[in-house]
Amino acid sequence: MAEAAKTNWDAIVIGSGIGGMAAAAALSKAGQKVLLLEQYQTLGGLSHSFSIEGFSWDAGIHYLNCVAPEDRERRILDWLSDKPIEFASMGTIYDNLHIGDAAPLSLSRPYAAQARDLKDRFPDESEAIDAWIAALKEGREAVMKVTSTRAMPEFVGTALKWWHSHAVERWCKRTTQEVIDEITDNPELAAAFAAQWFDHGGRPSKASFAIHALITGSYLESGAWYPKGGGGAFADHILPTITKAGGEARADTKVETLLIEDDRVVGVRTAKGEVIGANTVISDIGARETVNTLLPADCGHQDWIDEIRALPHSVAHFSLFVGFEGDIQRAGATRSNHWIYPGGKVDVVWTDAPGAPPPGLFVSFASLKDPGHDPGPSQKYAGEIVAWVDWSVVERWADKEPGARGKDYKAFKARVEDVMFAQFEAYFPELAKLVVFRNLSTPLTTHSITGHHKGAFYGIDTTPERLMSEALQTRTPIPGLFLAGQDVLTPGIPGALWGGVLAAATVDPGLFRQLPG
Ligand SMILES: Cc1cc2nc3c(=O)[nH]c(=O)nc-3n(C[C@H](O)[C@H](O)[C@H](O)COP(=O)(O)OP(=O)(O)OC[C@H]3O[C@@H](n4cnc5c(N)ncnc54)[C@H](O)[C@@H]3O)c2cc1C
Repeated sequence: MAEAAKTNWDAIVIGSGIGGMAAAAALSKAGQKVLLLEQYQTLGGLSHSFSIEGFSWDAGIHYLNCVAPEDRERRILDWLSDKPIEFASMGTIYDNLHIGDAAPLSLSRPYAAQARDLKDRFPDESEAIDAWIAALKEGREAVMKVTSTRAMPEFVGTALKWWHSHAVERWCKRTTQEVIDEITDNPELAAAFAAQWFDHGGRPSKASFAIHALITGSYLESGAWYPKGGGGAFADHILPTITKAGGEARADTKVETLLIEDDRVVGVRTAKGEVIGANTVISDIGARETVNTLLPADCGHQDWIDEIRALPHSVAHFSLFVGFEGDIQRAGATRSNHWIYPGGKVDVVWTDAPGAPPPGLFVSFASLKDPGHDPGPSQKYAGEIVAWVDWSVVERWADKEPGARGKDYKAFKARVEDVMFAQFEAYFPELAKLVVFRNLSTPLTTHSITGHHKGAFYGIDTTPERLMSEALQTRTPIPGLFLAGQDVLTPGIPGALWGGVLAAATVDPGLFRQLPG
């Protein structure tokens, strides 16, 4: 470790997702010199954008909640950025549900407007709809109480959860489906309540209702937004805060292991063999990924490691990135997203790809949401078609490197792409005619680009056990090691942002006073 000691960073942050960038920028605001290390060639984690043949897509953003001017997360983002990121509202309608044979159901914000949408479709279910809206509000309150304990000493957190135990039992420890079943026995209404579960990746039968309420309800609170310039805006605006404070953000630098001396984390060794020392190390790569890939074998704390490993992982996905040329609005594209469940059931994951068509599909036209998008003379627009799947569909190629997965993998990908595109075409026939570019990413792509276990880009599944777990605190039992990002609080950009900010404030509690209120 003698070499490491020479490098002298105050903090190393592993992983440049929004959680890692937020942690690094917050510590930079507190005067620390921070080194941010990212294994992939582009910084930004799942918030990064990429371009091919004049089209640009986001790896992991379709819409954002909690970034209205009055939201605290927006003020925190402004504080972390060198220049504030601009966000454009998606308007009143932000999602459309296509469930079974029913006509599309457009969902608007705020709460009263969405209650109206649902009551117009289900006029006999007024009471159930009011109960659902009330449950969303109470569930949000409950989850915020629990997640706020993530950066607190354990005894304080335990006391707070005990104090709010009624709400915790009622909303956090029951699944989305259990709450829905209590409210209605109308299967079509139940499906509409649960349809947006892929916004956090926890199936209705498994997810904590409170997390579903937090994430889907946030759009009703302050709307759906999209960053001008796409997800890459996060890295463009936040990284200068780190570098201007004397820090550095390095892409293409995989951390191979944490270095531990006298039971304390004292630095990292990269895959290229560089040994780098720091007073503090924050990991944004995911809790399971941290214990599975970064900890030396004999580091102890087995109870903590076992608790994290016992928590289930979330779903994986296929993204079909498409490029259009032409007037896509005229052909049926909208700023709002589309959730497509041809079979009418929403608690579904594609387990038999590509033999059968996907039971659920999400369609988004990012270019229409981005006020910075210039379609140019050939009217270029980007869109994404996403299907959520079980990792098992690609597992047989998992031990092979990209490029070495053989002809059968290529054929599998081609079939998945065709089946997904056919489903899209069935719902958007005019738009399908304008597609000039297609590129499929698979759970193996997610795994090789982000390192997420079994392609589970949302990290640990949003079950009640995850929400109540004491193992996901920002402060780990290993001195010098902290966790940031989506596993600490909740999946999604705002949750991962909070995970980063709270990790930084655990390292330097003075930040709690600096955080914009
Ligand atoms: C298809 C899709 C759609 C989504 N849609 C939305 C949406 O509409 N709205 C929303 O709010 N959220 C959405 N999300 C979720 C959101 O993108 C994530 O919750 C969030 O970006 C996670 O941020 P993070 O900082 O926790 O982790 P990540 O962004 O996953 O960052 C972790 C980083 O760690 C790096 N890393 C891993 N191992 C190492 C190592 N050993 N050394 C160095 N670096 C390493 C990875 O390469 C990665 O860059 C979506 C995600 C996907 C995939």
